[in-house]
Amino acid sequence: MRWDLGRTLAAGLAGTTAKAPQSAAAEWFNWNTLQHCEPWTFSRPTTEAQVADLVRAASAAGHRIKTVGAGHSFSGITLTDGLMLQLDALDAPLSVTPLDPSAPWTPGSPSKPASGSAAVEVQAGMRVHVLNSFLASKGLALENTGAIALQSVAGATSTSTHGTGRNLGSMATSILGLRLVLANGTVLDASASLNPGVFRVARVGLGALGVIVRVTVRAVPLFKLRRTATPYSLKELLPWVWPQAFNRWERMQWYFTPRTDSATLLLREAVPFDTPIVDCWNGSAKLAWRDPFADQVADWHSNANASDVQVVSGPEGPTPVVPQASRRRGVTQAGGAEPVPTGPSVECVDLSYRALAHQTDDYDLYEEMEVFVDANASQALMEEFIAFQNSTPLPPQPAGSQPWAKYALFTGMRYVAKDDIALSMMNGRDTGVISFITLGNHTHPADPSTFAHFAEQLERLGNADGGRWHWGKMNWATAADTARVYPASSVSQFLELRAQLDPSGAFLDDYLVQRLPNTGSVAR
Ligand SMILES: Cc1cc2nc3c(=O)[nH]c(=O)nc-3n(C[C@H](O)[C@H](O)[C@H](O)COP(=O)(O)OP(=O)(O)OC[C@H]3O[C@@H](n4cnc5c(N)ncnc54)[C@H](O)[C@@H]3O)c2cc1C
Repeated sequence: MRWDLGRTLAAGLAGTTAKAPQSAAAEWFNWNTLQHCEPWTFSRPTTEAQVADLVRAASAAGHRIKTVGAGHSFSGITLTDGLMLQLDALDAPLSVTPLDPSAPWTPGSPSKPASGSAAVEVQAGMRVHVLNSFLASKGLALENTGAIALQSVAGATSTSTHGTGRNLGSMATSILGLRLVLANGTVLDASASLNPGVFRVARVGLGALGVIVRVTVRAVPLFKLRRTATPYSLKELLPWVWPQAFNRWERMQWYFTPRTDSATLLLREAVPFDTPIVDCWNGSAKLAWRDPFADQVADWHSNANASDVQVVSGPEGPTPVVPQASRRRGVTQAGGAEPVPTGPSVECVDLSYRALAHQTDDYDLYEEMEVFVDANASQALMEEFIAFQNSTPLPPQPAGSQPWAKYALFTGMRYVAKDDIALSMMNGRDTGVISFITLGNHTHPADPSTFAHFAEQLERLGNADGGRWHWGKMNWATAADTARVYPASSVSQFLELRAQLDPSGAFLDDYLVQRLPNTGSVAR
C-alpha cells in the first residue's frame, strides 16, 4: 500500500481538542493501487478520546468520515473525500479473560466455547498477524482466518473476511464484543448481552455505523495444522470434490488455472500439538510489519511447552451433504471416483495461524472478486463459469503490451458456515465462495479490463443463485441487488440501526450509498 501524504495541517479540525497527527492527504491508495482517493484530511489518532473529538468535529462541520484499516480491500469501500481515520496507533492488547464453557449460552453469541478458550480484547487497529502472535504468546489462536493476516482486526470483521471451513464462520463470527465511537462522539459498547441489536449488525458494519475502537475476539487454545496442497486434473477433481471432499475435510478449498486442466486441492488438518513443525513460513515468525509479540512466539515454534496445550480438532461435522439434482442442464454428475493426484503433494505442519495465512501479502499485485452462493448451488455455478472461461475469446492485451500487462488467471472455491449477521455474505446460508483473480506482478496489478471481462460474467451467472459479493472485493452491486439477495428483515435491521446511530449520514460515502437502499437522501 502506498501512502502519499502531503503537507501537515498547522491547525486541527475547528473546535477539536484532539492532538492527533493530521495531514492533508494528497492521495491515498489501497493495497493493489487500483483504488485511490483524495481525503480532505488524514488522521492517525492515538487515543479513543482523540477519535471521539475528531469524529464529533468532522461530523458537525458537515464532512464525511471514513475509517480505514490496512487498506486491503479491492473495492471502493475505503474511499472518501472527507476525514480519513486510520487506527494503526490504536493497536494494543487490553485483556485476556478465560471463558467458562459451562456458563449458559447467550443467544446470538458464537457457539459454546471449547475448554481453554478466552475472550481477548484488543484495540481495533491491531493487525490480524499481530493479534495472531499475541494470542500465540498466550497459548491461544483464532479459530480461522483469511488467506493473509495483514488486515486490521476491525477492517477484517467489518467486511466479514473469511477463510475456508465447512463448520467455520467468517472472522466476524469470532467477535464477542466491540466498542463504537458514534458520529456525535459518544461511545457505544455491544455484545450478545449488551445492546444485542447493535451487536447483530455491527460485526459486519462496512464502516457505515461509526468507528470501531475496541474488539473482543473469542480465541481457542493454540493448535497446529498440517497444510497439504495436492495437484489434480481439474476434469477429474470436479465430479468428486462436491460433496465427497467437502464432507470428508473440515478445512478444504480448491483452485485451478483457468483454461488449463491444472487444479489443486488444499487441505488443513488438525494434528497433535507435539507434531514437529515443518515451516509453512520461511524462517522466523516475524512479518515485515512491526510485531511486538513475534519474539514471544518463539517458544511455541520450537515446540517447548507443547504438552500444556490441547489439540483442537474441528467441531463435529454436519450431516453429510447429499448431491441434489441441479437446476442446470449439463452439470457434471456428482459422485465421481476419487481422482489420482497428478504429482506429489506439498506439505507443511505449523502453528495454526501460520498454516492458515500467508506470511506476507501475496508478492504480486492482483485484482479479485468473489461470489457467495448457497453451498449446494456452488458446484453448478462453478461449472458454468468454467464453461464460460473455456469458450470466451480472450480479450486483447492492453495497448503497448508492457510486460506487466500480461496477466495470469486464477479461480478458486472456499466454503464458509452460515451466520446471523445482518449484512454478512453468509447470513442464513452455508456458503460456497467462488473467487476470480487476475494476477499482475510486484509493481503493477493486472489489466482491469481483462479482469472485468471474466468477473462481470461471474457476477451475472451468480445472480441466478442470489449471489452476494464480498464488500471488500471488486463488485458492481447496487442497492437493488442488496435488497434482492439479503433477507428483507436483515436489510431493514442494518438500515434502521445505521439511521439511528448516524442520522446525518457522516459515515456514508458513494460506495455505500450505491449499495445500501434508501441512503442517498441522507448522504452528505
Ligand atoms: C492480498 C489480499 C488477500 C485477501 N484475502 C482475503 C481472504 O482470504 N478472505 C477474505 O474474506 N478477504 C480477503 N481479503 C479482503 C480483506 O480481508 C478485506 O477487504 C478486509 O476488510 C480488509 O481489511 P483492512 O483492515 O485492510 O480494512 P480496509 O480495507 O481498510 O477497510 C475495509 C472496511 O472496514 C472498515 N473499517 C476498517 N477499520 C474500521 C474501524 N476501526 N471502524 C469501523 N470500520 C472500519 C472500512 O471503513 C471499510 O468499510 C484480502 C485482501 C487482500 C488485499
